[in-house]
Amino acid sequence: MRGIKKDGITFLGEFTDKDLEREFFNNDMKRYEKCVGPIAMIYGTIYMMFLIADYFAIESALGFQRIVIIRGLFLMVSALIYVAAKKINNYTQLAYLITAYEGLAVMGFLGIIDQYESLTLLSFFSVVAITLAIYVIPNKLSYAQVISIFLSLSFFIFYANRITGMDTFMFLKLASYSFIIITYCNIGAYLTHFYKRKHFAENRELLRISITDSLTGLYNRAKFNEEFNRWATYCNDHEIPLALVVLDIDDFKRVNDSYGHLVGDQVIQNIALITKKTIRSMDIAARWGGEEFVILFPNTDIHQAREIMESMRICIQNNECGTVDRMTCSFGLASLKKNESPESLLQRADKLLYDAKAYGKNVVICELEESHDL
Ligand code: GH3
Ligand code: MG
Ligand code: MG
Repeated sequence: MRGIKKDGITFLGEFTDKDLEREFFNNDMKRYEKCVGPIAMIYGTIYMMFLIADYFAIESALGFQRIVIIRGLFLMVSALIYVAAKKINNYTQLAYLITAYEGLAVMGFLGIIDQYESLTLLSFFSVVAITLAIYVIPNKLSYAQVISIFLSLSFFIFYANRITGMDTFMFLKLASYSFIIITYCNIGAYLTHFYKRKHFAENRELLRISITDSLTGLYNRAKFNEEFNRWATYCNDHEIPLALVVLDIDDFKRVNDSYGHLVGDQVIQNIALITKKTIRSMDIAARWGGEEFVILFPNTDIHQAREIMESMRICIQNNECGTVDRMTCSFGLASLKKNESPESLLQRADKLLYDAKAYGKNVVICELEESHDL
């Protein structure tokens, strides 16, 4: 899990960690997916409405026809975006789509001013307006930079000299304004990207803390209960087996009394580590409290769960635990019965743990004969 250090974010306003960036980006773009289509339609309509200005400004009929085609095509592409944006659920693709759309708007604009024999200062303001629009649309900062710089460079290299009354001094002034506007846009966009990611990383860290046991890094009791309830409902509804283990370190008081609480803590961490290594990715382990742990095995019958726990028991028993010579654990294992509540399953597993202690400890006790795996 990433922290919120400034150096975790690049100068392009992205997390240096690619996975974290993807997670953030998907999360962020998801919020905009509904707006992209309507915004494209609004932009397409505004783009089309400028045809009225072209009508009064353009003398050549052929030039006007070309502009009608360009603006018409852009409106059609906007309508296509309106339809396509609803269907896309890969957010990197959505970013490509938005960038391609912005690129089209820019190419269309350049194609339109190309039809004008002479331009006015208004064309420069159009460049400014399109630049601002590019930075407002949610996208990766680098993509917005490429498009806006391409627009300004193309304008100043190929078209600025067509502005009536243009001289070197005016050219430099307009170019400077353009540079200042793009710089401001970049600073603003960078700060937005930076603080959005900082906020995201902070929330993510808070969430992690709220569900994790600080000593072992396993889930805490609250998160386990949430997962347990969810899985119990799901397994009951779909008639899928669900096994639950409650385990407790044997004679742990002796460790605390003989070696002190810090060594006791290390033993708890050690057992947690073995638990993490033993369980499969779909299993859910948590520290229930003190030196007791719970493990949930979704879609696993009691025989499979017993095998896994038996191997874990042997692993703990053979494990060198630093200054403490030999540690063992006792296990109570039960399987969800039809329409049983999570509380009842937990009670049964807990009762079996007591049986394991009474039986002499270092043993996995389950109720094979009573349980009927769903
Ligand atoms: P049994 O084999 O019957 O389980 O005996 P036990 O000595 O392990 O007894 P029990 O499970 O009741 O022991 C719990 C002890 O764990 C009591 C408490 O002092 C200690 N303990 C609880 N939480 C922590 C912790 O976070 N760190 C340390 N070091 N000790 C803890
Ligand atoms: Mg104990
Ligand atoms: Mg205990």
